[in-house]
Amino acid sequence: FHRVGIGLFEALADMFSSVLSVAAERTQLQEAAYSDALTGLLNRHAVDVVTRPILRSSPLDPQAAVLMIDIDHFKRVNDDHGHACGDQLLRDIAALLRRELRKGDNVLRWGGEEFMVCLAATDAASAMLVAHKMREAVARHRHLLPDGRSLTATVSSGVAALEIGEPFFVTVERADGALYQAKRQGRNRVCVASGTD
Ligand code: GH3
Ligand code: MG
Ligand code: MG
Repeated sequence: FHRVGIGLFEALADMFSSVLSVAAERTQLQEAAYSDALTGLLNRHAVDVVTRPILRSSPLDPQAAVLMIDIDHFKRVNDDHGHACGDQLLRDIAALLRRELRKGDNVLRWGGEEFMVCLAATDAASAMLVAHKMREAVARHRHLLPDGRSLTATVSSGVAALEIGEPFFVTVERADGALYQAKRQGRNRVCVASGTD
């Protein structure tokens, strides 16, 4: 009976540890699914996770703002210096943006050379200030590239504050519209979206 008891205990311990390792593996998988391998930022699949606390904290009047940030003339960097240098510039700019975040803010690599910043408890005016700080931080940085050369780069941004009752993806669309405006007005600038009404 004693031996059977031990055997049972070992079997249970085995089962328990394999359940734990499956759970750990799943967490790792989820982290990989939400993370961008090149920059170490979150990727766009993390948008629901990032916005959940904002929308949950005050469902009727959530306060948040979105910045859509796109590197200016990034294709030229690839063309003139090669893809590895383009990748390095992406990593550099990701790090510069991350440095300007406050608690509760998040920056996601939205795709390609475009980033989405989600600012918690922030109105349009404060979001403009953050966007300008990010734009300046990028513009004054000299990037050392793997080909031994260096360059400066700029970004354009579109800003939109979440409106009452507005789905988050609509705010993102408005920020995207403002980004398009910033590009058309000459790049290296910040434009703010007008409200939905
Ligand atoms: P604009 O100022 O209008 O944004 O011009 P742009 O050249 O930045 O924009 P465009 O959309 O023409 O080019 C974006 C380029 O970004 C094209 C694509 O090859 C490059 N790109 C996207 N993802 C990556 C990446 O992960 N690494 C590198 N090196 N390049 C990338
Ligand atoms: Mg670009
Ligand atoms: Mg782009």
